Amino acid sequence: MSSEKQLSLFEWSNNDDSSESTSDSDSDFSLIPTNAKIPIPSGTYKTMEQIAVHCNQCHRCELGENRNNDVIGRGNPQAEIMIIGEAPGQNEDEQGLPFVGKSGQLLDKILQSVELSSDRHVYISNAIRCRPPENRTPTPKEIEACKPYLLEQIRLVNPKIILLTGATAVKALTGDKRGITKIRGQWLEWEGRLCMPIFHPAYLLRNPSREPGKPKWLMWQDIQAVKQKLEELQGDNNSIDF
Ligand code: URA
Repeated sequence: MSSEKQLSLFEWSNNDDSSESTSDSDSDFSLIPTNAKIPIPSGTYKTMEQIAVHCNQCHRCELGENRNNDVIGRGNPQAEIMIIGEAPGQNEDEQGLPFVGKSGQLLDKILQSVELSSDRHVYISNAIRCRPPENRTPTPKEIEACKPYLLEQIRLVNPKIILLTGATAVKALTGDKRGITKIRGQWLEWEGRLCMPIFHPAYLLRNPSREPGKPKWLMWQDIQAVKQKLEELQGDNNSIDF
């Protein structure tokens, strides 16, 4: 298809109130992985596997050129907690799974400390699905290009709680540019969902002290608050009280 037609699809999305349409012909499903200007309306994907098929062939940004594997998610796609990190690193790029290196091992331990299993109780993904070179922070353009996939993942998982690990994940999802030390541990509302920014596990690996007030101790407070909130929500029969 010509780039003119691709561009006209983009204009259609901006101008048409019915852009929530899920019909494949309207959203030009097959063009989605080719160009970040092709919209991905909410409801485009019915399953995580469909998202994976597109991400596997995606070139909406340049990170698609050098990936070994795209990294969609791991854990339970029906989990009540979704965790969103920054971007895949080398281990993740090699294995095609998020948080499988040292940071991921620490994340699993943090979850275990409040009896949450990373296989059963959470679904883990990232702001972007391909590894940036040298593990640099993803650019705003890369984050924007990949964001519709993330939004579709969130819609499919439909978590009660979203944990955002580090400032990049917070900014990518909510646009909030505040530093992580300022907002960690606070409950935020995003699109009617309950979110908590938490430290990135890589930051805890660099700051291993468990003394009160230090990052690891703060993370312990935060994960306990998350477990408590989850129990409250389960007890409340799904009503969310901000
Ligand atoms: N760091 C992240 O933010 N995500 C991963 O998947 C791995 C490390």
